[in-house]
Amino acid sequence: MKKVVSSPPLKSPGDFISLAAGELQQRQHSALRALLHHAMKHPLTKGRLARISSSMIDQEEIPKLMSLIQAARSPDHTEAIVEEGEYGAFGRATSGSPIVFSTGGTTGRPAMLLNTYEETLRNAVFHARGYMAAGILPHHRVASFGGSGTYASEYCVYHALSMTGCTIVPINDFRLVEANTAILLNLKVNVLLTMPSEAYGLLDHLEKANIVLPCMERVVTGGERLSEQMKERMRQCFSPSVAFGSTFQTADVGTIGYQCEECRPNEYHLHSDLIYAEIEPIEDTPELVITNLDRMLMPALKIRTGDRAEWVHLIGQRCSCGSMAGRIRLLGRTRDLVKIGGEKISTDPMTRLPDRLGLREHMLRIEISTDDDGRDAITIFSSEILDRGLRDVAAKVLSSEPKLAQMLQEGRCRPLEFRPFSEAATSEGYKNRVVVDVRR
Ligand SMILES: [Zn+2]
Repeated sequence: MKKVVSSPPLKSPGDFISLAAGELQQRQHSALRALLHHAMKHPLTKGRLARISSSMIDQEEIPKLMSLIQAARSPDHTEAIVEEGEYGAFGRATSGSPIVFSTGGTTGRPAMLLNTYEETLRNAVFHARGYMAAGILPHHRVASFGGSGTYASEYCVYHALSMTGCTIVPINDFRLVEANTAILLNLKVNVLLTMPSEAYGLLDHLEKANIVLPCMERVVTGGERLSEQMKERMRQCFSPSVAFGSTFQTADVGTIGYQCEECRPNEYHLHSDLIYAEIEPIEDTPELVITNLDRMLMPALKIRTGDRAEWVHLIGQRCSCGSMAGRIRLLGRTRDLVKIGGEKISTDPMTRLPDRLGLREHMLRIEISTDDDGRDAITIFSSEILDRGLRDVAAKVLSSEPKLAQMLQEGRCRPLEFRPFSEAATSEGYKNRVVVDVRR
């Protein structure tokens, strides 16, 4: 199997920004051309390259070539390109390399992308760059929050962390808050690597039990926005000087970005020596579309990320940190949607409710459920809303989503119900604490 991207060994976080713009673009384009030649013959992608010939790949400009390839269809944006019956295609397309099954399932529907162990380990080099840029250093003891199973993405994370020289403290299940608190305390963990929503349970526990973890120097997040409210809670539970870093990592589509000192919380430099990024209007929304330059088993060609984005710097434009790798700003998910009354409805007004009404987000739970008749129902658990007489205002904010207003009016969703927060089911460890869809 041909190795497209050769990743130099990492010595310092600065190593990866030293390529000159011309050299970076040249390397990116030659890797992309090699990938397209491969994808033309690959049973799973050749159909999508039908409008492109070998000679065009060598001669045409890259943006023109890419415009001839459709972004992969995608109900869940990380895209299941492989149907079950198609696995046989891999037997013909590849030989030798073991296969990692990788799902991008954080938003519900599992999506299948396949890569080899070698590809996963090379991807980890870019993960490591992101961690180093996020401030993880050799003296750190890093607790990495995981789920209750074993995932290919965790191998990628651990391999990447090992490259930073830090000590890894694997936390197998982020829901076991009491045991995890003891581990964090006893091992004097000083960096927490977590998705924001996986830290809710820990923070709740620390606050309730009145425990402070003063060793914690840094919190590194990825995947979701870390709200100001959560940062403040972390300063209270850890230390007032706790620092925050963020990465934009995926094991399936490939590592996407890292942050330099200049990047604002929702901005990321791209790993342009691993990925070719485009921002394309799809269904009238500018969406980040990624082509991975180092995927041969299953070419990751124009994979929709489900992230709305805009350019801050195009590749080749110099950031004041020295990087010419390009920089994007994330604007939110394209699919912050739930189905209520049979219609897709944006959860944006729900997740913004704490900011709009000045509520504490960890004291609010908006639960989407189904009643005995099978009708969808929304229950807002918040004592603050009830005590402060904010029911009408809250209902107005939620109904600013026209489709939800319509579902309520037509009775396809039960009238909004407000209840005290104490009546909410305990909810440690949900992916999104404010909005919880219990129908899943
Ligand atoms: Zn920069």
